[in-house]
This record gives sequence, structure tokens and C-alpha cells, in this order.
Amino acid sequence: MSPPSNNAARERLRIAIQKSGRLAEPARALLAACGLSWRESRDRLFCYGESLPIDLLLVRDDDIPGLIADGVCDLGVVGRNELDEQAGERARNGLPPAYRELRPLGFGACRLMLAIPEEWEWRGPEQLQGLRIATSYPAILSSWLDVRGIEAGVVELSGSVEIAPKLGTADLICDLVSSGATLAANHLKPVETLLESEAVLAGPVRDYDDARAELMAMLLRRMDGVLKVKDNQLLMFRAPAESVDALAKLLRDAEPLTRLPINDDGSLNLQTMHHGAVSWQLLEELERAGARNLMVLSVERSLA
Ligand code: ATP
Ligand code: ZN
Repeated sequence: MSPPSNNAARERLRIAIQKSGRLAEPARALLAACGLSWRESRDRLFCYGESLPIDLLLVRDDDIPGLIADGVCDLGVVGRNELDEQAGERARNGLPPAYRELRPLGFGACRLMLAIPEEWEWRGPEQLQGLRIATSYPAILSSWLDVRGIEAGVVELSGSVEIAPKLGTADLICDLVSSGATLAANHLKPVETLLESEAVLAGPVRDYDDARAELMAMLLRRMDGVLKVKDNQLLMFRAPAESVDALAKLLRDAEPLTRLPINDDGSLNLQTMHHGAVSWQLLEELERAGARNLMVLSVERSLA
């Protein structure tokens, strides 16, 4: 069966996500928070959308950009590192862009970094001239080197990049780093960041003009409603009117206070959307400044 082309009108939207790995669960959780549900199939490669005509394809993350480029899938949840690498490879082969980043998704954060042997002293990119760099991201690395006019050998490896210096196949590496523990275990130290990455929603270069356009708009609106309030907490309390200014000053990471009707005792009901979790320490400070009946509620979604 040949894959349907990007132009073929379709009634349903198809989203590719990682089958298993770092992005698999957070991607599913995000889509579920957007109101999507699926009937799981036996092979678990294709999940038929039940609540909406939006289906899932469970694949390797490396395949996601290509599936969008070929029009097999309409959207994908994939690391920016993978998306940019394959876009760079297409550009180097003279191919036009075939997808674009629609939204950063706030999970799967990592950096594509250069890492050198611990005992080296880092004096800047010029030092790379003539050296061999092992990486799974040759396109991103090559254009980074090109921009700086550095000629270095790019040794493409599909995995276990961090052991290349020890094996003598390269002098240093360019790889994804999150905690840095893997680098440290291999006696390497990170020195330059080539890319700040996170999971992103990738989609087609052009908008659809069939039923998918409306589905996509709805999904994006819902996703924005989930992402906007992700990590936010609603804080509610009461306080005497004269304490409100002092309390507002304590709430540095929150929206301006909303004042609700006055209570019988003359105190005010107040609420605010707090960016990030409300700590116990902040609650205690607010209490000392006159707040009572403090309550923290988790926020799931919002529609502006
Ligand atoms: P697949 O079987 O789907 O090909 P994989 O081994 O290529 O899986 P994972 O290791 O699950 O992929 O990583 C998926 C994505 O998670 C990466 O492309 C990257 O965007 C992100 N990520 C976050 N932190 C890290 C990290 N420390 N190392 C590697 N990837 C990370
Ligand atoms: Zn992969």
C-alpha cells in the first residue's frame, strides 16, 4: 500500500508519537489531557481515535519527521533535536522543508552539546580545527562548524557516541545531555551547547484545506489550554482589606489578585493563578501576612 500523499483529502487526523522511550508517556498524557481517547489495537502500532477522529501511530522517534514529510501522518510529537537534524539533512540534499515546529511542549528537555575529555582545557570552537567529532547529529554539527569556519571530521555514529573517544574513533563528541551523568561516567565534560531541545509538536508546512484543518485548529486550541496552565496552581484565600497590598507583594510569581465579594466579617475573598507550585513556605508567609483559609487547587485546562 503506498502512503497517501499530503494532498489527499482525509477526514481523520493522524498523529505519530514514540512507541516507547522518553517521550512516549508524556506525549500520550498530553493528548489525553486534550480530550483524546483511543481504542488500542492488538499490535499497538495504530490506535483508532474514539472520542474524536484523531488516530495515533506508535513509531520510533527517528521515523516521525519522515512520516510527516511523506504525508503518512499529519502531526508528530518528537524531539526538536530529531526534527532539526532531519530538516538539516533535507536542506543539505537540496530538498524543500517538509514540516515545521508548531508548539514547544515543555517535556523531554535536553541539550545537544560538545563534550571533550575531562583533562582537556577548553579554549573555544577554534580548538576543534582538524579534530574528529563523533555524533548522531551530523547535519546540526556540520552547519554549526560551517558557520564558524571550522574544518573538523564528523564521525557519524548511531549509538554509544560517548565511548568513541575511549575507543579512539574520535577525539571528542557531540551528543544529547540532560543530567550530564553519562558524560561524567565516560570522563567527558560538556563545553558548548549547539541546541536547546525539548519535545515539540511537528506539523505540515502548509495548512490543510479539508476536514483536518478544523480538527487541527481544535487540537491546537486545546493543547494551548493545557500547556498554558501546566504547572499553574489556583490559590484562594481570605484576608482583611488592609493586608491585601502586603499579600500581593509576597505573590511574585502570580497573576494580579482577583477580589471576590466581601464576607460578613469585612474580609475579602481573593484568588490568583500562581505560576509554578505554591510552596508550603509561601503559604506560611501569606498566613503571617494576614491570609486565612488558604487553599491551593490544581489546574487542568483553560479556554481563553
Ligand atoms: P526510539 O526507539 O524511539 O528510536 P530513542 O532511543 O531514539 O528511541 P529516547 O532515548 O527515548 O529515543 O529519546 C527520545 C528523545 O528524548 C530524544 O530524541 C530527545 O529529544 C529526548 N531526550 C531527553 N533527554 C535525553 C537524554 N538525556 N538523552 C537522549 N535523549 C533525551
Ligand atoms: Zn530514536
